Amino acid sequence: MTGNALELRAVTKQYGPVTALAGVDLTVGEGETVALLGPNGAGKSTLLSIALGLRAPGSGTATVLGRRPVEALRAGGVGVLLQESGLLEDVRVAELVTAVAGMYPKPLAPERAMRAAGVEDLAGQRVGRLSGGQRQRVRFALCVVGDPGLLILDEPTVGLDVAGRRALWQEVRDRTARGRTAVFATHYLTEADDYADRIVLLAGGEVVADGPVSTVKALVGGREVRCRLYGGDLADLEILPGVLQVDVEGGGPGGASVALRTNDSDATLRGLFAMYDDVRDVRVDTTDLENAFMTLTGGRGR
Ligand code: ADP
Ligand code: MG
Repeated sequence: MTGNALELRAVTKQYGPVTALAGVDLTVGEGETVALLGPNGAGKSTLLSIALGLRAPGSGTATVLGRRPVEALRAGGVGVLLQESGLLEDVRVAELVTAVAGMYPKPLAPERAMRAAGVEDLAGQRVGRLSGGQRQRVRFALCVVGDPGLLILDEPTVGLDVAGRRALWQEVRDRTARGRTAVFATHYLTEADDYADRIVLLAGGEVVADGPVSTVKALVGGREVRCRLYGGDLADLEILPGVLQVDVEGGGPGGASVALRTNDSDATLRGLFAMYDDVRDVRVDTTDLENAFMTLTGGRGR
């Protein structure tokens, strides 16, 4: 036993000309809640499916709860919610949840799992008749019914309404608060921010940042302050509070166009006005996630 929930070592995956994973190392300790954040095509689903032994890596190794992934799954230690995984169509919701519960050594009562996923009212419905959002809730019920120590969720809230999202995250939180581990993929910074304690930022098949939420958020979730400056020493821009990155065009008597990436635009602005006498055309924008990925990865995210 390694004491780790998940370990990937130098994992690569190639689909023809597409490099889906370009050598990923990732260790998730037991009890962590980790968000795998990245734009579409970053390799999140590939990474999770390799971690689960559903796809073979091109090279490298994956270990789950100290075992080979298939063995960990077979032992019932892992609950999985994958994007668009198929469901048996012809059974009723309660029958499906009960059947899956029967595959685990110590399952929850099926009613308990259905309640957690908000599908108790659908217990008698045939799966084939459910809407997309209802099916996603059923997938989540199946994910937790085994009462697993490790949850692996691939974009779990896609297709869910507000109530469905709330129920799902409430259940995930209840579990992680009791020391369970969760790894979820998302392309929403807010979900990573609200529900994870660590963010692994994936772009172009590589881990481009990995750390506490606040650290990674500062990299991708900052603001951009733009202005024109006339006079003053432009080198001082680097030392303004909150500034992460400085871009300057022009200069001299014609003025300089300045773009500052900052994790604290209020402090940056105060510093800017204190430091420079002639500041004009000030604009503050949120940097969107896609742009932040592009900056961090030099365009590899696309
Ligand atoms: P994400 O889940 O972050 O959106 P994926 O892991 O699904 O990313 O995909 C990563 C890259 O690999 C994408 O460029 C995608 O088009 C490609 N890809 C994924 N699955 C396959 C597949 N089965 N065959 C060919 N290309 C694939
Ligand atoms: Mg995906």
